[in-house]
Amino acid sequence: MVTNIALAIGVAFVLTQIANVATTVYLHRALAHRAVTLSRPLTVIFRTIIWLLTGIRPRQWAAVHRKHHAFTDEDQDPHSPARLGWVRVQLTNVALYRRVARDPEQVQKYARDLPQTTLDRYVLDHALLGLGTTTAILMVLLGPWLGIITAGLHFVLYLSLSAAVNAIAHTFGERPYENSATNLQWLAFLTSGEGLHNNHHAAPTSARFSLDPGQIDPGWWTIRAAQRIGWATVRHDTPILATPRRTP
Ligand SMILES: [Zn+2]
Ligand SMILES: [Zn+2]
Repeated sequence: MVTNIALAIGVAFVLTQIANVATTVYLHRALAHRAVTLSRPLTVIFRTIIWLLTGIRPRQWAAVHRKHHAFTDEDQDPHSPARLGWVRVQLTNVALYRRVARDPEQVQKYARDLPQTTLDRYVLDHALLGLGTTTAILMVLLGPWLGIITAGLHFVLYLSLSAAVNAIAHTFGERPYENSATNLQWLAFLTSGEGLHNNHHAAPTSARFSLDPGQIDPGWWTIRAAQRIGWATVRHDTPILATPRRTP
């Protein structure tokens, strides 16, 4: 029994980490900010991972996120802890996300460059189909109950870590650059680099989130590996700052 629960936690953690790499490299750095251009095969791999492990529609995610950057911690920010409190953003991030994601006008406004493809319409935009497929595979591999528990743990962990970037990484931590986001290396370890969120708001078009020596951005390692085999092209090698470094 204990071994089974340990297995479920281990598999769920690995699945969440795979989903986090796809989220930060594909949804965030490639689609939302165009900081990196990915090859067709890598795009297909990441798009499939997002469908199977998150149920997110990339166009909607990019729209919500671009709106967050346009109005960071102002009235129209979809998920601002400065306005709503970090606990509310942490616990209701999915509902806050949906308010914008389910509004076709806002999705069109912020993600007009990401039209729905035929494959999206018939397969990949059907979130429950992707998540159901993953749950079914886990049930076959691990047995019905352990499969369901593993899928549930993965979904809770993934959603909690995504919420933490919006809630905790706009509230606690270091702010070396002049913006309201924060850097938290422990969160960056768990989210493939997303925890270096102050750096990201400072240089949103940079494919690399680690800007100072000693900072670790696993998402950047993934991009570097993809670059080496010709599957990724970075927009600029030197980060371009949108907000300056704070003077001590
Ligand atoms: Zn932010
Ligand atoms: Zn961003």
